[in-house]
Amino acid sequence: MIDNLSGSINKRVSESEERFRALVTATSDVVYRMSPDWSVMWQLDGGGFLSDTGEPITDWLQKYIHPIDQEMVKAAIADAIAGKHMFELEHRVLQADGSIGWTSSKAVPILDDHGNIIEWFGAASDVTGRKRTEEALQKARDEAEQRKRLYEIVTANTPDLVYVFDPAYIFTYANPALLTMWGKSWDEAVGKRLSENGYEPWHAEMHEREIDQVISTKKPIRGEVAFPHATLGRRVYDYIFSPVINADGNVEAIAGTTRDITELKENEQRKNDFISMVSHELKTPLTSVISYVQVARKRAAQENDAVAVGMLERAGKQLAKMTRMINGFLNVSRLESGRVMIDHQVFDLSELIKEVEEEATATISSHTVVLAPLPQVLVNADREKVGQVFNNLLSNAVKYSPSGSNIYIACTTRDGYAEVSVRDEGTGISQEDLPRLFERYYRVKEAEANHIAGFGIGLYLCAEIVKLHGGEIWAESRPGEGSTFFFTLPVDGGVEAVYKHK
Ligand code: ADP
Repeated sequence: MIDNLSGSINKRVSESEERFRALVTATSDVVYRMSPDWSVMWQLDGGGFLSDTGEPITDWLQKYIHPIDQEMVKAAIADAIAGKHMFELEHRVLQADGSIGWTSSKAVPILDDHGNIIEWFGAASDVTGRKRTEEALQKARDEAEQRKRLYEIVTANTPDLVYVFDPAYIFTYANPALLTMWGKSWDEAVGKRLSENGYEPWHAEMHEREIDQVISTKKPIRGEVAFPHATLGRRVYDYIFSPVINADGNVEAIAGTTRDITELKENEQRKNDFISMVSHELKTPLTSVISYVQVARKRAAQENDAVAVGMLERAGKQLAKMTRMINGFLNVSRLESGRVMIDHQVFDLSELIKEVEEEATATISSHTVVLAPLPQVLVNADREKVGQVFNNLLSNAVKYSPSGSNIYIACTTRDGYAEVSVRDEGTGISQEDLPRLFERYYRVKEAEANHIAGFGIGLYLCAEIVKLHGGEIWAESRPGEGSTFFFTLPVDGGVEAVYKHK
């Protein structure tokens, strides 16, 4: 009976050895046989991935299983033995070449007629490649998560409004400040369009066109908008929409930030109002001082008091300078509040240049003004304001170049525009300062250091006037050699030709 039993067991074991060999031949996987309690590994064919075990060994755990995973493997084995069910586990192994790999391992218990385990038959496939990919993916996911948390902290704690649109104008992100402003929860607001988040039609429409523009130009845009806030009243916002460009070079989203600049604007307004008021108040006494000086000069002339005439003439010049400054400030405040009107008329620009130049040279003895031959150029513009622009450039050329040097003036036409240039032989302007010269109150540091008086409003006014005419203004300079200031104005009836040309 016992003989019979052991005979049948032996028979089965040898049968399973045959099956094992068949399996080894048929598969590229690792194949193994284990004793009923897994204390002995009877056989393992490593399939080139793990080293083979031909003779039974007891230290298979140390030989094949990565130390970190040994406990986990043991627990899974104990569980499979207790339940007499399949052992199944993905774990790290020590490969034939000593490196660490991953296997997906399965082993089934072979049972005798009484249900006792007589051996385990296992197969394991090499899943190292897949695991490495999974690990890399997980790492990328972790990093992305970490970045997300970081951005969330930043955007959650800024008072600025931060948001993202998809190309179909739908909000895909809104930071807490924006949600608070809307008085909405994330679920209520995200996934919606501007109009669905309470934006008025004109406002939603405006931003949608701006999103279109960012998508087509792939460039950020900046704007300012004022609208009534539910609880805070009228607010002014400064915003920037920037393209988020994907690997294909297309705009996949539009990221926006908006800042409440109401207080900044109010302060600016207060400052403007103050400057405007002060200038107005100064003008009245100044006007009467000017007339007293004129009368006094006449009287001094009648009395042949040459010294007094000289002094009163100088006083008159200083008063004229003061008037120009005050008028400058008044013009700034008029421009700021949009109260500057362009009084269009058709006139010959070269005539105006000659007039202003003659007037100016009558008082300039320090410089030689060289006028290039001026062709007749008809422009439809505000004669007085264009005269102011030219006069400003000319007096700057005098102010910022050494006496005895030349000032060259030219006027040409190109592509439907008249181009006026004023070149001096002064110290010039650095590349960093060039684009900023036309900002309000901007002065180059050296000008201040050299004690050349000014408030930095002349070029700002010039730029605003030229822009109101649809022209451009800019400066070119080589430090040490001098500067050239240019401005353009559309030639009368010539703009259409230019647009057609473009
Ligand atoms: P202001 O002359 O009153 O300071 P402007 O607006 O006319 O104001 O000029 C702004 C600044 O630009 C000046 O402070 C000066 O530094 C610089 N600038 C203007 N014209 C010239 C010039 N022709 N050469 C060199 N620097 C100039």
